[in-house]
Amino acid sequence: MKILEERIRKDGVIKAGNVLKVDNFLNHQMDVELFRQMGMEWKRLFEGCPINKILTIEASGIGIACIAAEQFGVPVVFAKKSQSINLDGEMYTTRIESFTHKKTYDVIVSKKFLGADDHVLIIDDFLANGCAINGLIELIDEAGAVLEGVGIAIEKGFQHGGQKIRDKGIRLESLAIVDSMDDLTGEIKFRQKS
Ligand code: 5GP
Repeated sequence: MKILEERIRKDGVIKAGNVLKVDNFLNHQMDVELFRQMGMEWKRLFEGCPINKILTIEASGIGIACIAAEQFGVPVVFAKKSQSINLDGEMYTTRIESFTHKKTYDVIVSKKFLGADDHVLIIDDFLANGCAINGLIELIDEAGAVLEGVGIAIEKGFQHGGQKIRDKGIRLESLAIVDSMDDLTGEIKFRQKS
């Protein structure tokens, strides 16, 4: 998606350790008009899929998921990061390793909000090694729900989460795929859509 690529080039800051900071429009200050256009693009890409719910993970996925949900006319459920899992059987649970914080979280979704009747689109801001998305897929599997696909704002194609998800036959639509980025020169290369 050209406008997203241009915005990353303009405002993205490449940090050591393969981290791309996009605090100016996505992860801290949020450009809601850009989010709206991203939501419209996912709506176009997933046209015809019987999506009735969007699933994301707190915190940074929530904003883009909510604006996308307006286009789909469906609710958003966000998986909550939890300090301790209570094992009363009311929650689906999984563990997710955080790329940016190098920590492992327990993540929960209430059984009230995800079930076998749901056709789910996962939305998140970044895809790196795929831990966050794989955790969300585990929650969907636990619930017996159907995964319709995954929508990502920025995929870092030089890490391998995206490849692993596509190899499983899951439909993955990343709006910008960064194939390389150089923290010394600031150069960013995007994958061309085939
Ligand atoms: P993964 O689980 O795919 O390794 O990493 C995805 C999660 O880590 C995303 O939800 C995002 O919050 C965070 N993340 C991974 N790489 C980056 C990055 O380069 N920049 C930012 N801002 N967040 C990232």
